[in-house]
Amino acid sequence: MRGLHLKKTIPLLMLLAFLCFWLVWKRPSHQELHTTTRLAMGTLVKVSTWGTTASEDDNGVNLVFAKINAVESWASKQIPSSLVSRINHAQKGTVWDVPEEWVTVVKAALEIRHLSDGAFDPGLGYLLDLWGFGNGVAEEAKIPETEKISAWLDTRNKQPDFGIQWVQSTHGNQAIQWGGFSYELDLGGIAKGYAMDLAMESLKRSGIANALIVAGGDMIIAGSKGGTPWRIGIQHPREHDKVMAFAEITGDMAMSTSGDYERFFMAHGERQHHILDPKTGRPSRSGLISVSIQTAKSIQADALSTAVFVLGMAKGKALIEKLDGVEGMLVHENGERWKSPGFKGQWLEGS
Ligand code: ADP
Ligand code: MG
Repeated sequence: MRGLHLKKTIPLLMLLAFLCFWLVWKRPSHQELHTTTRLAMGTLVKVSTWGTTASEDDNGVNLVFAKINAVESWASKQIPSSLVSRINHAQKGTVWDVPEEWVTVVKAALEIRHLSDGAFDPGLGYLLDLWGFGNGVAEEAKIPETEKISAWLDTRNKQPDFGIQWVQSTHGNQAIQWGGFSYELDLGGIAKGYAMDLAMESLKRSGIANALIVAGGDMIIAGSKGGTPWRIGIQHPREHDKVMAFAEITGDMAMSTSGDYERFFMAHGERQHHILDPKTGRPSRSGLISVSIQTAKSIQADALSTAVFVLGMAKGKALIEKLDGVEGMLVHENGERWKSPGFKGQWLEGS
């Protein structure tokens, strides 16, 4: 009996040993998941790639941060030498030669301004500075004097067209004239999304097909983790460090979340936050406290999440339903929650 047992066991052990050897031998030189986190555009940016070698991943990560930093260098209002800052501080009526990227982002912003009936507005630079949100440091935020807000609103009402005119420059490039303080540019609601699109495109061009980039409330996804979907969470707007919903995503998609919990201070018993309503000159009081938008392009997701946040539940839903390829998840302070049928994600039980 015993001999028979051994006779069967020895070949089995040999087979097992061979299998182990084969698995080790065949193990891919590509490590599965690489993750790098760095500070950029005033937020933590996390880049994950799947199925890359360490050097492919290094190269990819460098491309991502190069793209993000390049966009920041012209689009940031906080950098004095950026094109946006120079335009904001120039004499009204100055004509500028503007690069193609600038035209792309500003035109996309103006289109969403139009679609959202002015709820999204890339010309709130002065107003954001008044509130102290312009420099990205919440500690300096304060409620401005009512007269200053009224003066800003009055100036705008006298000049309802956005303060940019598209003119032809002598070199044949597009250029603009600037309309004054009531339309000072702030691309904080759209530039990060644009940078994420560029970053993902450059990853793909470098041969990285599976990646997830997360920058604060914005993320962009490509491919999968070797057939397993990327798993992402959406932050609870009132409970820090808690996830309210999650999604499992494979393939190309961008998602952006705007909330009143990201940058705010409390005053007069109210949350004074960084998403302003251009119609009142004050923090949006639409009742929405979190808006997530999913689209193919991050530039649209970023701007639309801010737009819908200001529009509120009814108008926000209507805008999402009207736009092809746009899905949304909305949370109201009264507890009401809504998501469009095509939104990829589920509420977390008990959240
Ligand atoms: P975050 O930048 O924190 O990801 P959002 O995408 O919602 O959040 O954008 C908020 C930023 O957009 C603000 O910090 C400000 O720069 C700008 N902003 C604020 N209100 C508006 C608005 N009504 N329209 C367009 N941009 C806005
Ligand atoms: Mg946004």
